[in-house]
Amino acid sequence: MNDFSRSDAIEFATPDEVRAEQERLLRQHIRYCKEHSPFYGERLSDVDPEAIQTLASLPLTHKMEVSIRNSEFVAVDSIEVADIVFSSGTTGWPTKIIYTQGDLERLAYNEERAFNACGITASDIVLLTCTMDRCFIAGLAYFLGARAVGAAAIRNGHGTLEGHGEVIKHANPTTVVGVPSFLRKLGNHLGARGMDLPAASIDKLVCIGEPLRAASMQSLPIAVELEEIWGAKAYSTYASSETVTTFCECTEQAGGHLHPALGLVEIIDEEGQPVPDGESGEVVVTPFGTEGMPLLRYRTGDISFVNREPCGCGRTSLRLGPIIGRKQQLLKVRGTSLYPQAVFSALDEMPEVGEYYLEVHSDGDLSDRMVVHLSFSSRPVEVDELLRRLQARLRVKPEVIVEPEADIRRVVFTPESRKPVRFIDLRS
Ligand SMILES: [Zn+2]
Repeated sequence: MNDFSRSDAIEFATPDEVRAEQERLLRQHIRYCKEHSPFYGERLSDVDPEAIQTLASLPLTHKMEVSIRNSEFVAVDSIEVADIVFSSGTTGWPTKIIYTQGDLERLAYNEERAFNACGITASDIVLLTCTMDRCFIAGLAYFLGARAVGAAAIRNGHGTLEGHGEVIKHANPTTVVGVPSFLRKLGNHLGARGMDLPAASIDKLVCIGEPLRAASMQSLPIAVELEEIWGAKAYSTYASSETVTTFCECTEQAGGHLHPALGLVEIIDEEGQPVPDGESGEVVVTPFGTEGMPLLRYRTGDISFVNREPCGCGRTSLRLGPIIGRKQQLLKVRGTSLYPQAVFSALDEMPEVGEYYLEVHSDGDLSDRMVVHLSFSSRPVEVDELLRRLQARLRVKPEVIVEPEADIRRVVFTPESRKPVRFIDLRS
């Protein structure tokens, strides 16, 4: 299965070469799914891999199916299992995902190519601020990627702000991997303690879990802030435990490249039909060469769009835009549809706003009610003025409740979550 390991050139190949290789890999993947995965053995019983004309003729796989029929997705004997993680499920309990040694090697290769695209080489020292433990795959993936590229890794995980500061002082990392809002907090903290970060050794930030670009591909305020605070370039990545596939921005910072030999991505609408390039819809991933729990046309529930234009870096591979929302989080407020991320982006652009979270309630059958809980920074503003600006940006006016910063932080930063919790969904 592991013929992805010799395919760097495919990132720069012509569309015809890529199409031919992806068709070969898709047939191989379908054969593997049919033969080894009980779920797909049943689901694809009528499918002849050699006769497939279009991807759209194949069935989609829902997150809920992987959660509920979990063991039927396992395609290897238990002795082949190398690593077990749990992804946050939609069913109320976490979904178990298993990886073989081959899956971990594939993941390392994927991260190596991702790191390579944003300029990380063997001479880099990579500080990992994402945890290796607690059954998450992210920290392990970035560690394997750093090693595959030949760089040194510093596994400081969920260390304290002071602890990361000491590591930066003594180990001179050139790259930091972490969640954008955490990297902002860390950078501001170290700056306030007199550390001159722009003059320090760090010149790259690899950002996970939160977007850096708006749907227009313009940098979000947090991306601009991060680059200023750290004096480093910030690159966005996107991945999921289920698909074991990473999309990472290259040095052009213009969308996450997908390595063509590692998978196919589609964007579909509410009815499951493909949407034109550039239009947003649900991201569907078919990861090639996965062994433990192979997936076919997996619906991620994340909303984005693709760009197939050749990139300034020379790669011809498809780029995925920023994640503009989660399908389940789509809000309908008095006839206007929007994702929580749009509210977060608007709030991030207001220097008067300190911390915040968005609470959503049902307001009748077809409408949602948005309540923004926020604290003011050191530059307070009239609430009416804030509401006017929010409405101009979002086309709907949320309710706003101003609270002390400590109260907001208690909700947003919980020990149970690795990311700030800014969306509280109380809809029935
Ligand atoms: Zn590029």
